[in-house]
Amino acid sequence: MADHVRLFIPGPVEVRKEILDAQSRWMIGHRSSEFADLYARLQPKLKQAFKTEKGRVYTYTSSGSGIWESASRNCVRDGKKILHLVAGAFAERWAGVSAENGKEVDVLEAEWGQAIKPEQLADALKKQTYDAVACVYNETSTGVLHPVAGYAEVMKNYPDTLFLVDVVSAFLGADVRVDEWGIDVCLTSSQKAMALPPGIAFGAVSDRTLERAREVKNRGYYFDMLTLEKSHVKNNTPATPPIALMFAADQQLDEILAEGLENRFARHLKMREMTHAWATRVGFEMFSEDGYHSPTLTTVKNNLNIDVSAMNKFLRQRGMVVSNGYGKVKDKTIRIAHMGDCQPEHMEALFAATEDYLNTRS
Ligand SMILES: *Cc1c(COP(=O)(O)O)cnc(C)c1O
Repeated sequence: MADHVRLFIPGPVEVRKEILDAQSRWMIGHRSSEFADLYARLQPKLKQAFKTEKGRVYTYTSSGSGIWESASRNCVRDGKKILHLVAGAFAERWAGVSAENGKEVDVLEAEWGQAIKPEQLADALKKQTYDAVACVYNETSTGVLHPVAGYAEVMKNYPDTLFLVDVVSAFLGADVRVDEWGIDVCLTSSQKAMALPPGIAFGAVSDRTLERAREVKNRGYYFDMLTLEKSHVKNNTPATPPIALMFAADQQLDEILAEGLENRFARHLKMREMTHAWATRVGFEMFSEDGYHSPTLTTVKNNLNIDVSAMNKFLRQRGMVVSNGYGKVKDKTIRIAHMGDCQPEHMEALFAATEDYLNTRS
């Protein structure tokens, strides 16, 4: 038996022991100068990771969903609308968050498994003005990496519309260019391709966003960006931050930047190619549209009619586990995450164990 179960599910993912251990340092007070140093030390690393020099990166004591709420709530004025691009469960849920916060929501859809094309966005923006456009880069329910760089080209024609991008399951596994793409709010959780434990989230926020927030009434309390900004300029957070997770993030970002962002993206692409080649060889069909396959997560159709919980019971004995589908394609797909600090050799081990399981069925 393996000493633990390695998670090939799309979050939380395996966290390396050194990073888990980084959390066990003695606590520091969050109003101390040591904390301000920690906060300040994280900032340039986070900005490098998001590829932003113009903006700032807030630390949220929440999972990524908290920044959905923060973005929806701070970026859309009364009587104005937000357009959500929806082709999967996560994008659908964010649209729901906007609606639940009283915002007027329009939805631009594509079939699940397909990418929403930049031309569709261009058409939608010709018909209606929006305070914000919200999209998901890597749709974790379908395994599609949406063409955000293409949306960015379209958005450049609409300087009064904020561009909000969820990069949760792609961040540090696929390229994200906040300044170049003109992203106003770029949000991520910790427990996906960053390979940290869950419970902390990061959002890169532009000056334009803060200008907008000043015109928005009822921004709420916990996720009000103007409150976050007041603390941010003092290298602090309004409420108690997840200090242990920040220790871990500090070390993990050092190691990620030492690996090099481009090397890291290349490693993810390699794992994607390996996973596709293997999945196709054993008879799976891809669920995601060709040309838009995610580098961090492969979603296949369950065309081999696998009982995923039985397969996971078998895989757990070998110290690994994969994921069933999510949302309305829960039983029709299987998801294999290859994100974070996952290495090609871990994928090889997963493929071998999965094939052993498939052989028990025949
Ligand atoms: C996991 C995920 C979320 C939700 O993040 P939490 O950290 O669980 O709140 C949002 N968007 C995408 C694309 C995700 O994969």
